[in-house]
Amino acid sequence: MKTVLVTGASRGIGRAVAEAFYGAGCKVAAVCKNNIDLLDDRFLKIRADVSDPDEVRRVFSEVEKNFGRLDVLVNNAGISVTGLLTDLSDEDWKRICGVNLDGVLWCSREAARIMVRQKEGCIINISSMWGQCGASCEVAYSATKGGVDALTKALAKELAPSNIQVNAVSPGVIDTEMNSFLSEEDRNALAEEIPAGRFGKPSEVADLVLKLASGNGYLTGQIIRIDGGFV
Ligand code: NAD
Repeated sequence: MKTVLVTGASRGIGRAVAEAFYGAGCKVAAVCKNNIDLLDDRFLKIRADVSDPDEVRRVFSEVEKNFGRLDVLVNNAGISVTGLLTDLSDEDWKRICGVNLDGVLWCSREAARIMVRQKEGCIINISSMWGQCGASCEVAYSATKGGVDALTKALAKELAPSNIQVNAVSPGVIDTEMNSFLSEEDRNALAEEIPAGRFGKPSEVADLVLKLASGNGYLTGQIIRIDGGFV
């Protein structure tokens, strides 16, 4: 049975990923900062802020204590900040880097320590198409996701000799609470820009993550877009 850790698992894409791995017979550790009560006892529930390296160390020691090993890490936790760059506060920049980029690095570092010993493992980062093509009024978000893409490619090279695969899934617009700030009119206008004509579903991203984790040892360092043809 595979052991999996998913960050940001209380809702949205992370929740769908945790459910998909559980449905495939895996033991799943579900990490989230808030709303841990939204998760039930099928999961090993861990409350933690991924932007804090001490909390991340605690998460991984809890996972090792309970599962004895870690086969798959899904770095999903992320936040977005929208608005003009000239309105971006110092605090918001630090907060978004802390979760979207530092969090991925802290979790990957702890996972690598376990997986290198095992000589086996798989890390999947949830990036964003904006990390590749950039979004107006989401400069900070785009920068963090571009960083995640670079981290993915570099770490894939570093860990390939230890039989650990590192890839990123790069979604387009997915129907989650992250996009709840959009008005009905904005949603419709955005959907019209997407060749598939609609937002993606969290379960569609989860399906891809599950397939990627199913153990193709030669597939590594890739940024795989799932965006309805947007980019
Ligand atoms: P969401 O806001 O619905 O869920 C985010 C999850 O991350 C929540 O469970 C939240 O509690 C958790 N989280 C936030 N900060 C955290 C922290 N500091 N520590 C631990 N957990 C924390 O968002 P979503 O749409 O499901 O997004 C999930 C991932 O997918 C993010 O990385 C996001 O950037 C990426 N993504 C989303 C979309 C989209 O359109 N929804 C598109 C591309 C990429």
